[in-house]
Amino acid sequence: MTRYDLHCHSTHSDGLLSPVAVALRAASRGVDVWALTDHDETSGLAEARQAATEAGIRFVNGAELSVSWNDVTLHIVALGIDPDCAALQDGLRTIRQGRDDRARRIADSLAQAGIPDAFAGAARYVTNERLIGRTHFARFLVETGRARDTKEAFQRFLTRGKPGYVAHEWATLSQALGWIRVAGGQAVLAHPGRYPIDTAQMRLLLGEFRDTGGDAIEVLSASHSQAHASEYARYARVFGLLASSGSDYHGPGESWADLGDMPPLPAGVTPVWQDW
Ligand code: AMP
Ligand code: MN
Ligand code: MN
Ligand code: MN
Repeated sequence: MTRYDLHCHSTHSDGLLSPVAVALRAASRGVDVWALTDHDETSGLAEARQAATEAGIRFVNGAELSVSWNDVTLHIVALGIDPDCAALQDGLRTIRQGRDDRARRIADSLAQAGIPDAFAGAARYVTNERLIGRTHFARFLVETGRARDTKEAFQRFLTRGKPGYVAHEWATLSQALGWIRVAGGQAVLAHPGRYPIDTAQMRLLLGEFRDTGGDAIEVLSASHSQAHASEYARYARVFGLLASSGSDYHGPGESWADLGDMPPLPAGVTPVWQDW
């Protein structure tokens, strides 16, 4: 059976391994079809594709776009995009630039809470000068003894209501879906089980996502329990959306699942790769 892993990160966003190292790890763990989906960035794809080809696995161009929808941050995984598409690149650049301003505000907010120099501290963990994220702050907070690991750093400082959390406006859902469409890709709603919304809002989101051009939802994700997988398989069928699968791997010691760890999709859904 073909093994798919269509969501993971490298040093081109907030992962710990280079695209080449992720490719080799995916191949050694039995992944047959792999997508690299760095946050708001495609600069790792060429390197990833070459390494995947040399390792004998199939590669799919990807990215994970940050979106604001009704005060909720959503992640949209784009698969099969043309990274040379100008509209997509303009959009991704705009999202990344917003991250710089947000990082300043996160640092100010941490300083208010008695944690100085967080911007410089986080910047030391940045591995792509074009992209700073909360994970880089989390690593700084661990380094300086404010949390045992990055998960605890998020829980204590970087999630809604905590001292280092700031609100931020990302791209709109229709902008992100538009860029993915013109770049020839498929749009996947990432880890739907993670969004802090109730059933009524989830139904609203899935309907709007589909009607705006969304293609699929991530049924299998390291963020999901078995109950989530069944629930989102059912939503995929009800809303006429395809189903995707990805580990969301970020690197050794910082992930819930490793590359290739997702089981086969539940019965009764149509995979996002059906026409690949
Ligand atoms: P950002 O896009 O900069 O807001 O960062 C989002 C990233 O932070 C996600 O892709 C994860 O890598 C990481 N993240 C978010 N929430 C948590 C959490 N509770 N524990 C660990 N990492 C998290
Ligand atoms: Mn991440
Ligand atoms: Mn995500
Ligand atoms: Mn991700």
